[in-house]
Amino acid sequence: MTVTAQAIPMLSDNYAWLLIDSATGKTGIVDPAEAAPAIAVLERLGLGLDFIFLTHHHDDHIGGVAGLVDMYHPTIVGNQADAHRLPPLDIPVHEGSLVEFGNARLRVIETPGHTLGHISYYIADGNILLPGDTLFSLGCGRLFEGSAEQMFNSIAKYGDLPDETQVCAGHEYTSSNARFALTVEPQNEALRRRAVQVQVMRGQGLPTLPVSLGLERATNPFIRARDAQSFARIRTAKDNA
Ligand code: ZN
Ligand code: FE
Repeated sequence: MTVTAQAIPMLSDNYAWLLIDSATGKTGIVDPAEAAPAIAVLERLGLGLDFIFLTHHHDDHIGGVAGLVDMYHPTIVGNQADAHRLPPLDIPVHEGSLVEFGNARLRVIETPGHTLGHISYYIADGNILLPGDTLFSLGCGRLFEGSAEQMFNSIAKYGDLPDETQVCAGHEYTSSNARFALTVEPQNEALRRRAVQVQVMRGQGLPTLPVSLGLERATNPFIRARDAQSFARIRTAKDNA
């Protein structure tokens, strides 16, 4: 495994992700809401910043870009189609783009739904998925711009990734997601175990992410929805919960 991902907590419940390619020492940060917490972690580790990878245009995912650019002049990667509402991009990408990151590559997966220009990144070398606000542990993003069908199809695109994939999502929403998921599948044993584990972790102030995609497949009602109609029903119920 050459690339590692670690969460950097930001704002009240955001995670930016620090990526390090251990072979070359290249670094990247995904979705920095703020600059200061990222700078603090980089300085503690004695690292610079080579890349910023953006999943979508919301303030809580790009707010720290300007401050990090001033300090490190990193290469900024984001969706070409959303360039008009993202910070200036050095590498505009689209479905299937492969971005070189040290010895590894990030593959771009277009995942419209939360926003129309939302993208995810997958790093095979390290099995890391950066779904932004498309997929959360036991939940998924709200549909601010896209339809339920688009979101269902976007999440289905993760279907060919291995169970061992580490899901590095954009928010710590797992506790409230667990409460809702249990109303959808009260008898799901794997979900009940995960809900207890999440309660313990949050009680100790620990992040519940990353989580394996295999565990999400066993427990997340939005991945488990069998068609776009049932997905839409669950999404609406969550919005009104
Ligand atoms: Zn968002
Ligand atoms: Fe967000």
